[in-house]
Amino acid sequence: MTLNQVLSELHAAQAQSGRPESSVRLVVVSKGRSLDAIEEKILSQASALPTPVMLAENRGQELRDKVKEARERGWAERFSPTEWHFIGPLQRNKIKYLEPVSLIHTLEAAWQVHAIAQAAEGWGKAPAVLIQLHNGEAQKHGVAAEDAPALYHEAVQSGLEVRGVMVMAPYGDLEAARQVFGQAARCAADLNLSELSMGMSDDFIPAVQQGATLVRIGRRLFT
Ligand SMILES: *Cc1c(COP(=O)(O)O)cnc(C)c1O
Repeated sequence: MTLNQVLSELHAAQAQSGRPESSVRLVVVSKGRSLDAIEEKILSQASALPTPVMLAENRGQELRDKVKEARERGWAERFSPTEWHFIGPLQRNKIKYLEPVSLIHTLEAAWQVHAIAQAAEGWGKAPAVLIQLHNGEAQKHGVAAEDAPALYHEAVQSGLEVRGVMVMAPYGDLEAARQVFGQAARCAADLNLSELSMGMSDDFIPAVQQGATLVRIGRRLFT
């Protein structure tokens, strides 16, 4: 689909859910896509997108390489401003690649708080973070909702800005997804956090209905 088609779908879902206009922002999941594809499908069409355009990657080296190539191609001069998000599992030896990132969606352990805070000292700036919640399935990533407050406090005490929570729903079951999204929304509300990163190509509609503020869409945009 084109960017404009996906944005129309998103706006329709927002309107049908009675959400205020522009309360849901699109995070373009650019993992695995070439810079040519990102330019063609997204950046050259991006006048419809609020800025900065959010691009999300899930692998440290791929992110580093893309940021470098984007600089060489003069993205800053040629296109709307962009910012990079990280949506992959955080590995200790890969945190060093995350300097260009403004928002990490996948914080799930206290050691990651300390590794990010320590790296951030060297960078002179720290990325904001979202706490990834477990979705209740046999899935290894994310923390249980009852463990989110402790991780939140750990992050805040280490000087990180915690903006909200992120969750991935179980695949292929929209009713289960709706419940997982609803639980994530309650968890964010309990922590008084406003950002809710949830919803992907196949389940962004229930996510919007349950209060998503960031939807992370890849396949729908690029294929
Ligand atoms: C790949 C990925 C997405 C995007 O999924 P699509 O189905 O391509 O829209 C969103 N979030 C995370 C964490 C991902 O890894």
